[in-house]
Amino acid sequence: MSVKYDVAIIGGGIGGLMAAYRLHKNIPGIKTVITERGNTLENRHCPAGKNNTCVHCKHCSITSGFAGAGAFSDGKFNLGTAYGGTLGEELGDDTANRYINEVDEVLKTYCTSGEPKVYMSNEELKLKCLQNNLRLLDMNVKHLGTDKNYLTMQNLIKALGEMGTDLLAFYDCDKIEKTGDGYLLRYKNGETIEADKIIIATGRGGANFVADFCRDFGVKTRSNYVDIGVRVEMKDIIWKEFSDRIYEPKILYKTKTFEDRCRMFCFNKGGLVSAENNHGIITANGHSFADPDRKTENCNFAILSSIRFTEPFNQPTEYAESISRLANMIGKGNVLVQRFGDLIRGRRTNEHRLGQNTVIPTLKATAGDISLVLPHRILTNIIETIYALDRVAPGTANDDTLLYGCESKYYSIRPVFLNDKFELVDNVYIIGDGSGICRGLSQSGAMGIYVADCIAGV
Ligand SMILES: Cc1cc2nc3c(=O)[nH]c(=O)nc-3n(C[C@H](O)[C@H](O)[C@H](O)COP(=O)(O)OP(=O)(O)OC[C@H]3O[C@@H](n4cnc5c(N)ncnc54)[C@H](O)[C@@H]3O)c2cc1C
Repeated sequence: MSVKYDVAIIGGGIGGLMAAYRLHKNIPGIKTVITERGNTLENRHCPAGKNNTCVHCKHCSITSGFAGAGAFSDGKFNLGTAYGGTLGEELGDDTANRYINEVDEVLKTYCTSGEPKVYMSNEELKLKCLQNNLRLLDMNVKHLGTDKNYLTMQNLIKALGEMGTDLLAFYDCDKIEKTGDGYLLRYKNGETIEADKIIIATGRGGANFVADFCRDFGVKTRSNYVDIGVRVEMKDIIWKEFSDRIYEPKILYKTKTFEDRCRMFCFNKGGLVSAENNHGIITANGHSFADPDRKTENCNFAILSSIRFTEPFNQPTEYAESISRLANMIGKGNVLVQRFGDLIRGRRTNEHRLGQNTVIPTLKATAGDISLVLPHRILTNIIETIYALDRVAPGTANDDTLLYGCESKYYSIRPVFLNDKFELVDNVYIIGDGSGICRGLSQSGAMGIYVADCIAGV
């Protein structure tokens, strides 16, 4: 006999945590559970930390477990809707901003390690970019840092447990079935639970789970786009003018050859490049610590080329995965790293050349040739973007700049919702990155609070 809940939340990232928090505030005594595929936050350890090499864990501790994909993130909190998702389009900017501010208030309550720094938008840098055909996306950003973000999440999760939310680690939801008056959730560990209402908060890593749900329940999906590209690493000083003033430069560029949209984002000042395991596929990412003692001499950011497929092809995630898999094949199970100078000269980077590089890699990746992996169109877009960025931050296109391949962001499943409460079918809601709407902490958290309000009828 399985335990029955009023609301079961699948996924313990910021979306799921904020939804649970608000449900308890709205409806004291409500019976809720968060079921999470990965580990408890305290027990999430990436073994790659010891030697910087991914060892292919079954559930990647970087991306899954309580506190979700954001647990070890840089904790950049966007105080607006200009990027990080399309919640503003869905709810209207005023409502979305109100909910983002509410997430910020909750985080402030549980951030016990000092007030994070807020970086304000900057007109001068915006103009400099515009004069060079680049569009600087501008918004105030609060920077928690990996360490502060972790502690805040730890405090929030503890509070949720005290409020009465059951927190179940290693509960990987396999299937949802309709029962007479609610739902039965089946888990890969053989357990089941019952719930009147469900909030799916499975993030990017749960894309297949959402796809299966939509198929089983006849929910229509729209083909979405993917972003594919590389993580770029160079000396921190090259982007200092930007990072000192706005912390995170997010810049759009329309490439010359293909007129595609390429974007620079996920900037990490003094950061580290990291590898993450997405169901056995190793991709690059990055983060940085707020603690000055843990800063490196480097900065890193993603340059990704956006691709939206049209009929008849509708498997953008699989497309991106197969490119990353190819990089892993050539990289002997790891991401590849190549010097920009080698890429431009049409030769692979080898250990010798990497050993002489002035930019010391912060991730142990396989020295190789990303031009053997990335399709011509994507590679051309990335090279053109690097040269365009070099005009506002000279040195970006240096020979010693490192490119790690591949990095991709999938947003392929974008379900068609029943209504503006983000309901997929009766009493099953979806929030966060997994909904295809959000791409960051603030909007995912905001969507969690919004849906909790919808459930409570507030
Ligand atoms: C390295 C890194 C750095 C980042 N840095 C930033 C940043 O600085 N600022 C920012 O705004 N955003 C950042 N992001 C993005 C941000 O972390 C996400 O947008 C955010 O975490 C999304 O929240 P979510 O709750 O929707 O999903 P997630 O945080 O992905 O949480 C979903 C959870 O669901 C679990 N899950 C998936 N499927 C199942 C299932 N079937 N059953 C049970 N559990 C399941 C997963 O294990 C995961 O823990 C970063 C992401 C990464 C990976």
